[in-house]
Amino acid sequence: MQCSATKRFAASFLTMFLVGLTIQPSVAQAPGRTLIRNVNLDMTMEPQLGDGEFGLIASGDVLIEGDRIVAVGKDLDGSGARTVDATGKIVMPGFVDVHNHLWQSLIWGCGASLAVGDWLKACVFPVGRLNVTEQEAYAVVRLSTLDLLSAGVTTVVYWSHAFSPDFARGNLQALLDSGLRFAFAYRGRLEHVDDIRAIKRDMIDPHPRASFQIGGVHPNIATEVVNTLRRMSELAREMNVKLHVHLLEAEHDRQQDPLRALDLAGALGPMLIGAHAVHVTDDEIVRLASRGVRLAHCPLSNMRLASGIMRLGAIRAQGIRVGLGLDGGTNDTSDMFNTMRTAIGLQRALTHNPTVYPTVAAALQLATIGGAEVLDMEAQIGSLAPGKKADVIVLDPDALNFAPRFDEVSQVVFNAQPSNIEWVFVGGRVLKERGKLVGVDAKTAIADANRAGQRVRAALIR
Ligand SMILES: [Zn+2]
Repeated sequence: MQCSATKRFAASFLTMFLVGLTIQPSVAQAPGRTLIRNVNLDMTMEPQLGDGEFGLIASGDVLIEGDRIVAVGKDLDGSGARTVDATGKIVMPGFVDVHNHLWQSLIWGCGASLAVGDWLKACVFPVGRLNVTEQEAYAVVRLSTLDLLSAGVTTVVYWSHAFSPDFARGNLQALLDSGLRFAFAYRGRLEHVDDIRAIKRDMIDPHPRASFQIGGVHPNIATEVVNTLRRMSELAREMNVKLHVHLLEAEHDRQQDPLRALDLAGALGPMLIGAHAVHVTDDEIVRLASRGVRLAHCPLSNMRLASGIMRLGAIRAQGIRVGLGLDGGTNDTSDMFNTMRTAIGLQRALTHNPTVYPTVAAALQLATIGGAEVLDMEAQIGSLAPGKKADVIVLDPDALNFAPRFDEVSQVVFNAQPSNIEWVFVGGRVLKERGKLVGVDAKTAIADANRAGQRVRAALIR
């Protein structure tokens, strides 16, 4: 039973959260009919639409109407459509980032020689005590969303800390303004469960690009944590959303037996996303697979924080759905090409085997349709197919880091950089056009983020 003081606090939290929130229109124009024509190489990621496992189509077109792809193929009729001439370009689905903390652009570069536990103590937990304002939160998340879009990420899962109502409000407004498709994994407190419900109902559900997840407490076998996990899992089920937790990221996490804790809490199932899962045993991999749990692989973060190497081959061999995550300030880049390269390179370096999982094809799948499968959104995003959302990126390979072309698909993984991305569509809206973000004053966004960063940095190193 809630005491009246708690009720009052919860009520004020909700009021503070919702008051002053204005939902801004999207940054770009309403989507109409667009023909991306004469593409050098369509990488549809749909084998039935083209050649091989990528469904490759040479000299193809992609036709978009409203927020959806209506046709992919050769010589499509684009009458009445805006035409994007993609001669010489590569077209593919936008990247799906299944685990990120967008506010952490505020601490990019912090604790460069620290492992995960010390990094959290030095760079993350203190920020919760610094009263980050709504404007500061907005500025740093704005910066991250622009960086993601520029790098071709079209869907992001933002596991959001909930330092304060102002902080959460700034986070959400920046996401809504960005034009990105997103899931907001909100780490609200169960004492404020009405607020968690209200945020979903009032701020997420009305937006077709937005979805909600419960950002779960760190799993631990302690009774009170298991009880909290159980209530969070029940809440997620009641809301029909995912529960998203950090799982066995560091070796010392094993002492807390987090998988058993999640099992005792009744949380092991297809509605659970576990980020990292570096230190899982063979038995645990089998258990995760049998329950249909989904995982986020964050290789750059795991390298940066000396966490270890996920047993990706063994995990995928059991059929577990896995996507790639950039993981915020532990990674310091929004570059999914780099993340794919690292996912491949770590396993090859570990096994001395150049054919080990993930292959080039598997890395591209993890970064697109694999991420969509983690989110149960594979019917909507993750590949270029008629009826799917028009989340599309256009790459220009005619660049210093890419040409001459030998094997374009392999080069997308091993050579490409965010600077090669010329066009980004999310739900048919053009958010990057000819290499420039649409309707974005980048200098102002950078200056605003710098101001927030300077204050926080000064406080952290005091
Ligand atoms: Zn994380």
